[in-house]
Parts: sequence; structure tokens; C-alpha cells
Amino acid sequence: MAGEAQDDCLFCKIVAGDVPATVVRETETTVAFRDINPQAPTHVLVIPKAHYPDAASLAAAEPAIAADVLREAGEVAAQEKAESHRIVFNTGTGAGQTVFHTHAHVLGGRGLQWPPG
Ligand code: C5P
Repeated sequence: MAGEAQDDCLFCKIVAGDVPATVVRETETTVAFRDINPQAPTHVLVIPKAHYPDAASLAAAEPAIAADVLREAGEVAAQEKAESHRIVFNTGTGAGQTVFHTHAHVLGGRGLQWPPG
């Protein structure tokens, strides 16, 4: 069923507590944890607890949870005092997506170039 945990999904395992992560925030619908390969002083991933492969499929099925993810991304930036920050959803392998469970990258704490590569 849509949104259900997937046995082969790394981020579902983090939600379940079966894979360790450095969690910085958690709500009823989301978890935020530090990226294991940080690309900036602040690099936190915000994920919905429900499994959807990318941001658009989450927003289509569960718009309130998609909003929760965005709000939590802003809360992470505030908590990290990263007033200037970037919120990124890589979508598809060509855009660098490697984990197919919706996640917002929250990047900050340094100058960020535009356009991204
Ligand atoms: O956008 P993309 O799918 O590439 O992002 C996945 C992110 O998940 C990567 O930045 C990777 O470092 C991170 N990751 C993590 N903890 C894991 C496995 C991957 O933070 N156990």
C-alpha cells in the first residue's frame, strides 16, 4: 500500500531505528538526521516517516506530510542558525538521487554557489 515501509529501503530502516542515524529533530510524521557524508557544515536530511520515492509522489499522495517536511526543513535551518540555506530534493538518478525515499537536504553554514552542478 502507498506509504508503507519497504523492507529494502535504508531510510525506512532509519525510521524504524534499525539503522543508526544522528537524529536532530523528530515529529509524528518526519525525522531529521545528519547526512553521513556532509557537503556543508549543516547537512541534514528531513524525511517523511511514510515511504514515497520522491517529493512529487509524496506531495500528490500526502500533501499535509509534504508540508510537514518543508516546515521541518525550515526548523532545522533555524535550529542550526543557518539563516541562508538551501533545501534540495534530488529527483532521479540523473540528478544524483541514490535513496528512493523522499528526503530534503538542508544545506547551510557556508556560501552556496548558484547554479548548482
Ligand atoms: O539525494 P540523494 O539520494 O543522493 O541523497 C542521499 C543521501 O543520503 C546522501 O547525501 C548520503 O550521504 C545520505 N545517507 C545518509 N545515511 C546513510 C546513507 C546515505 O545520510 N546511512
